[in-house]
Amino acid sequence: MTAKKNLATASRLLHTDYPARDAYRSLSMPVYHTAAYEFDDAAQMEAAFTGRTADFAYSRLTNPTVAHFENEVKAVTGAHDVMAFSSGMAAISNTFLALAHAGSNIVASPHIFGNTYSFFRSTLADFGVETRLCDMTDPSAVEAAIDDATAGVFLEAITNPQLEVADLRALSAICRRKGAPLVVDTTVIPFTHFRAADCGVDIEVVSSTKYVSGGATSLGGLVIDYATFDCSRSRRLAPLAAQFGNGAFTAKMRREIVRNLGAYMTPHVAYMQTLGLETMQVRYERASSTCLALARRLQSLPGIVRVNYTGLEENPYHALSRSLFGDKAGAMMTVDLASREACFRMIDRLRLIRRATNLFDNKSLAIHPASTIFGTFSEEERRKMDVSQQTVRLSIGLEDPDDLFEDIRQALND
Ligand SMILES: *Cc1c(COP(=O)(O)O)cnc(C)c1O
Repeated sequence: MTAKKNLATASRLLHTDYPARDAYRSLSMPVYHTAAYEFDDAAQMEAAFTGRTADFAYSRLTNPTVAHFENEVKAVTGAHDVMAFSSGMAAISNTFLALAHAGSNIVASPHIFGNTYSFFRSTLADFGVETRLCDMTDPSAVEAAIDDATAGVFLEAITNPQLEVADLRALSAICRRKGAPLVVDTTVIPFTHFRAADCGVDIEVVSSTKYVSGGATSLGGLVIDYATFDCSRSRRLAPLAAQFGNGAFTAKMRREIVRNLGAYMTPHVAYMQTLGLETMQVRYERASSTCLALARRLQSLPGIVRVNYTGLEENPYHALSRSLFGDKAGAMMTVDLASREACFRMIDRLRLIRRATNLFDNKSLAIHPASTIFGTFSEEERRKMDVSQQTVRLSIGLEDPDDLFEDIRQALND
């Protein structure tokens, strides 16, 4: 194989070599649909099971097809290691089950995905982990909330559905000083466009169900470890830090958490998401350009009170978003209408845009977050999370921009 150094991201996404050549020289990574792998002798088995060799043993721990998918993401991000999971929630929960312990706390934004919120405030709370909700746009408040028992600081790159952006570089400086890892859910801005490590993110978590899968073929999650967190400062990781240094988080995940929780990605999903990854950059550029053009046009439509999209110059987070994520602001926006009833009516009248949850399908999607994703929270909780009854969320796909505009225009008409 030729050396493939110095490739641009678009090329690298298509040309990551397999670790070993396939017997038939298959051009696509073969899907190794197997639970277990055979060994020649007992000594070889012992070496694999005790971690002295990297031979595959059992697909709950690792699998060649999934490993290839992980290697592709590693090549693009330059990370220390990448681990693939069965969903975005599995990536998030496995990460915090490696970092937190009873008596520890997590400092998190109140503006997070509903199931992540519930994982922190219900599931982890029952195991004695406290989650301190903190305004991430106020670095001094974050600094004050972190103490010696803080297992991690967590936020989303652009929050949903508020579309709030925090200064990740400032938060990273605080986290490094205080000895807490900065964990960021970057699902809304793909790693082809956002260099998380350059902004001081220690661990990136991604729902690969969204941009990566492409066409919403499958659920998946990624944990991307840059090995920038000083693991000796974590109670859970310090015992491994002596041997693995800042690679202790990955060592903990691979040797204990992934195995014990059993949420590793399956080979067929890794195959589909590898195909998605090949076209992700192109799809993202198209969808985010359409989203910006549409956001501008929707501002003038009667019936729309406000368009919220960080790509608009007048958006309060525009400058920060640009400095972190570049000239593309993602393919999600929200529109505020006069009332909950107006939102339901608009959604009901859509003819092209689909009524569905999920983000970054090739098809555009619309949803009323307050009554669905956040529907089981109390009105009081929704108010604290700034989830309004007047908001419709739009995920923009690959359709013609004029067709999307026309669909929303007719849906708002009397
Ligand atoms: C969808 C989503 C998740 C959860 O991912 P799943 O793959 O559905 O488990 C987490 N965070 C964000 C920001 C999401 O959009």
